[in-house]
Amino acid sequence: MMDPFSIAAQLLLGWLIADLLSGFFHWLEDRVLWIGMPLISRAIVEPNRLHHRDPDAFLAQSLFARNSTTWTAVAAIALLWLWLAGFGWVWLGALAGGLAVTEVHVRAHRRVPRSSIYRALMDIGIVQSTPHHWGHHTAAMDGRYCVLTGWLNPILDRARLWTRLERALEAIGFTPNRGAA
Ligand SMILES: [Zn+2]
Ligand SMILES: [Zn+2]
Repeated sequence: MMDPFSIAAQLLLGWLIADLLSGFFHWLEDRVLWIGMPLISRAIVEPNRLHHRDPDAFLAQSLFARNSTTWTAVAAIALLWLWLAGFGWVWLGALAGGLAVTEVHVRAHRRVPRSSIYRALMDIGIVQSTPHHWGHHTAAMDGRYCVLTGWLNPILDRARLWTRLERALEAIGFTPNRGAA
C-alpha cells in the first residue's frame, strides 16, 4: 500500500508546479503578449489588462466565463502530461491546482470571513492570501506573478527569475512591454 504521507507530498508538489506555471503564464501575459495579437488578444491579453485596470471586474463574471480559458489550457497540458508520463499523484495535484487557480485568484480579491477554513488555508499560504496577491497589484506589477500559493513568489522574486527572463528576451531583441498598454 502507498504511504499516505508520500501521496500527500506528491500532491503538494503537483500543486506547486501548478503555482509555478500560473506564475509563468501570468508573467507572459503581463510582459510579453500584447493587445492586438492574432488569435489570443481577446481571450487572454485583454482580460489580463482589464484585470490590472479594474481588479474586481472579473468577480462579476460567471464561473464558466472567468475559468473557460484557463480550464482549456489546463486540460491541454494535463492530457499532454498524461500521454507523456502517465498517471501520477504529482499530475493529479497539478491538475487540481490548475483547475482551482482562477477561483483562488477570485478569493484573493474577495472578502473571506476571518474565521473560515479557507481563511486558515490563506494564512498558511497553500492558497494565496489577499495581502500577498495585492502585492502584485500595488507594486509595479513586476513580481508576485504566481497566483495559487504564497510560497513560491518570495523565492522566485528574490532569485529575480522574471527579470532574468526579461533580460534574456532583450538579449535576443524583444522588448518586454512592462505590462502597460
Ligand atoms: Zn499581472
Ligand atoms: Zn488579481
